[in-house]
Amino acid sequence: MERFYVTKGDIVRAKTQAIVNAANTSLLGGGGVDGAIHRAAGPELLLECETLGGCKTGEAKLTGGYKLKAQYVIHTPGPIWRGGNWGEEELLANCYKNCLQLARQHEITTIAFPSISTGVYRFPVELAASIAVREIVSFLENDQQMEQVLMVCFDDTTYQAYEAERKKYIKA
Ligand code: ADP
Repeated sequence: MERFYVTKGDIVRAKTQAIVNAANTSLLGGGGVDGAIHRAAGPELLLECETLGGCKTGEAKLTGGYKLKAQYVIHTPGPIWRGGNWGEEELLANCYKNCLQLARQHEITTIAFPSISTGVYRFPVELAASIAVREIVSFLENDQQMEQVLMVCFDDTTYQAYEAERKKYIKA
């Protein structure tokens, strides 16, 4: 999977054409990565988000990137972890699928994801990593346009969880 990378850092500094925001369903900003993206993009991002009428969990909507290096932000509300019996795994998989599909529709060739749902929404990071990596790898297997997908992890534990999953897909 030479088009998929796991890195450690701050997603607002990613040089990809699009970055994904782990948003909430209002799309009106929040804490964590959402707050960082809005701060770095400037107030025009919120103005555009206000026109979108929110977004359902697992779905995705695209805006401009304004002051970010990224041309686009793809906003996706991840599921809140409620023990695992409320469709959380499928909803998280939908986040990755829908972001990647939307990117393809806009001919985006490089994209960076944060670890959706594993912050305030408390999704267990190992399980989240296995779902995210599975969806990214399966998308890339069926797609020729996408040149680079980055997972940008904010801390060591998150980085190690995603990197361990990525390594499972490297053929021996
Ligand atoms: P959610 O509400 O979907 O759980 P959070 O923003 O609370 O979203 O957390 C999701 C992940 O994003 C966590 O691993 C958190 O540490 C990480 N994170 C927070 N800020 C940034 C950032 N600037 N860049 C990349 N990841 C970030």
